[in-house]
Amino acid sequence: MTRAGAAPVRNVILFVGDGMGLGQIEAARCYAGETLFFESFPFRSLIDTAAAGGWITDSAASGTALATGYKVNNGVVSLAIPGDEQELETVLEYFQGWGKASGLVTTSYLTDATPAVFGAHAAYRFDSEMIAWQYLNRTRPEVLMGGEAAGLSLAVAESAGYHVVTDRLSLVAAQTGTVARLCGLFGAGYLPYEYDGLGERPSLAEMTACALSVLSRDPDGFFLMVEGGLIDIACHGNDLARCVAETLAFDRAVETCAAWAHGRDDTLILVVADHETGGLSVVRDAGPGLLPEVSWSTTGHTAAPIALFGWGANAEWVEGASDNTHVAGLMRRRVPLPGEAVSITRTSVDRLQAVWAALSGTVYRIEQSAALRPAAWQTREIVTAVTSRVTLEHVVGTEPSCGFFRMVPMAP
Ligand SMILES: [Zn+2]
Repeated sequence: MTRAGAAPVRNVILFVGDGMGLGQIEAARCYAGETLFFESFPFRSLIDTAAAGGWITDSAASGTALATGYKVNNGVVSLAIPGDEQELETVLEYFQGWGKASGLVTTSYLTDATPAVFGAHAAYRFDSEMIAWQYLNRTRPEVLMGGEAAGLSLAVAESAGYHVVTDRLSLVAAQTGTVARLCGLFGAGYLPYEYDGLGERPSLAEMTACALSVLSRDPDGFFLMVEGGLIDIACHGNDLARCVAETLAFDRAVETCAAWAHGRDDTLILVVADHETGGLSVVRDAGPGLLPEVSWSTTGHTAAPIALFGWGANAEWVEGASDNTHVAGLMRRRVPLPGEAVSITRTSVDRLQAVWAALSGTVYRIEQSAALRPAAWQTREIVTAVTSRVTLEHVVGTEPSCGFFRMVPMAP
């Protein structure tokens, strides 16, 4: 299928730390004694996570916002609820429309909400059999890795044409071959915490490396979602040691991916959470190798804003994002191109504010015209963009009358 419009970035990798708020990142940083790897990404932003109706979100609603750009009710998997209940196109489906390969990797069971919102549509997040059926028969991502779940067993995956592996050694062996569709099922339900020892199971970093090795064979590029699913589970139990260890394991998976992407200019890596869990905040840093003193405020989710980190192609758009619904656009590149108007609004009776998307460091000419047909564009001013936005304030009445504005890049 061919899509209209500007082509998306070749490879997009989205890391989702389930329940990983700012407190979780800080606690892991205290324990590590240094900033986490993904904290070194050049672009970051804080985003809100509320579900439709303004509720504290669950992973289905927040995941749907990340995957589709739409707010839905808690428990809903990529359907317009509230709304007309139609399927909301996920970024995975969008990228498949561009011919790209796709993959879902998690330390949770594979039909859990976070992977589900990318590869399925369901009114109820715990409809595991229906979600599994959609993975294997509809969206068919080239890579599926996580825990077994109702509807997603070794036998079912094999009969759907997947090469199935069930432990670390067979996973590592599979990546060197020419496997077209790889399904890793590493026991029933959640994988164990890395803190408690993985036994024969692969780490999240190892799963990420294998997924990249399979997906990067597609000449059209790929979309990969990697979830650190157990940060949330540890935080529901206010279990700091496992929360920290899972956050660090998640960080190692990001580092593995960044090492793979090193030197490429066609790949976007985003690191985000779906929500914060536990109301965790650090009270005192106890030094490297020691768990910090912390406080928890709940065993549930909170409405705390979460961080979004970006590296690579189009990552500069991260700094403008303020809501979880913006992340899908970042990945799809449904963000304004440099020079496109973001908004031109009258902010008061006599004031007009125009905002354009820009490439930082580029010189632009802002023009104005009293009419569009026939247009008589006149240079208003020359500006150098210092961020990804250029803003013009126009006071109506005290300046020459002009109804229309535009911004054009100047030849270097
Ligand atoms: Zn949770």
